[in-house]
Amino acid sequence: MAGSPALVMRLVASAFAVAERAGSIVRKVMHSGDLGIVEKTGASDLQTLADRLVQKSICASLSRRFPKITIIGEEDLPSEAVEEDLIESGQAGDILQKVCPAEYSDIREEELVVWVDPLDGTKEYTEAAVSLNGAAPHTWPPHTALGALRHGTALCLLDHVTVLIGIAYDGKAIAGVINQPFFNYQLGPGESLGRTLWGMLGLGAFGFELKEVPGGRRIITTTRSHSNKLVTDCVQAMEPHEVIKVGGAGNKIIQLVEGKASAYVFASPGCKKWDTCAPEALLHAVGGKLTDMRGRPYRYHADVKHMNSAGVLATLRDHQYYSSRVPESVLQGLPSD
Ligand code: AMP
Ligand code: MG
Ligand code: MG
Repeated sequence: MAGSPALVMRLVASAFAVAERAGSIVRKVMHSGDLGIVEKTGASDLQTLADRLVQKSICASLSRRFPKITIIGEEDLPSEAVEEDLIESGQAGDILQKVCPAEYSDIREEELVVWVDPLDGTKEYTEAAVSLNGAAPHTWPPHTALGALRHGTALCLLDHVTVLIGIAYDGKAIAGVINQPFFNYQLGPGESLGRTLWGMLGLGAFGFELKEVPGGRRIITTTRSHSNKLVTDCVQAMEPHEVIKVGGAGNKIIQLVEGKASAYVFASPGCKKWDTCAPEALLHAVGGKLTDMRGRPYRYHADVKHMNSAGVLATLRDHQYYSSRVPESVLQGLPSD
């Protein structure tokens, strides 16, 4: 490849390394047993030490290398000096080797907006911690068969947790990096925990095997901790063969691209731009679609409203079917903006 890599490829390569570092911080805080939980707007809207440390790490690491990029993180944190050991300066070499799609090769720093969800699925992270640390203090990872049996369902919650770094240009989610810190938690010692998935429009998506739900079954994935009547009415109107309730926007998009679910349906305000930017880019990179419940795309300019008021409808295929099944009563119940 001639010349140095395009700016956006360097940013994605940095975001990949930064997301891996973030995953290790998320594991470390869980291991410490002291999550430092703070309620933001209520008991279903939490922040932990991991959310705070990871946001500091991601924002400081990216802005040090790319000072003119706009970075918007979920957490409202005091501006203070960031400890040097939170700074990640690595870049993923294989991403730097990729040829940048022509339409993105001349992007300048000022034109990019990065949306950061330092920990998506915080509610599930805290529930898993209560169970793990309550029953077996400071034993991590819980590799033994006995441990897995004892902690059962709480362990599954670990897969709901992700770190999301979404990159937007001209209001469009063009690239996304998703770290899943506890991927492989079921395996024994010696297996490495966690993985990083990434995708970019025009390049595809990497770090997982793309699969579709077999036999055209309608498997709907939706929230487990932020449900309401609009959400359940909408899910039922889609006549699902199966409904899965899990935490995290990132986790639900991973389910779509790995063939575990056919549609992500959340007919409610609640998700924000940092929840959907990285997942949307990854899904769109493999031909899927994420919109609001009216089928309209979300935009990711620096000055947009953070709340995705009109809900989230995401699919790998057959978006039109799910969109056409959203009841009028549900649309009427959602805010109009
Ligand atoms: P969930 O599917 O419930 O895990 O939600 C996906 C993302 O949207 C998570 O980051 C949640 O914190 C966020 N979210 C959804 N609904 C709400 C809500 N009612 N209040 C706060 N955050 C929410
Ligand atoms: Mg989130
Ligand atoms: Mg979060």
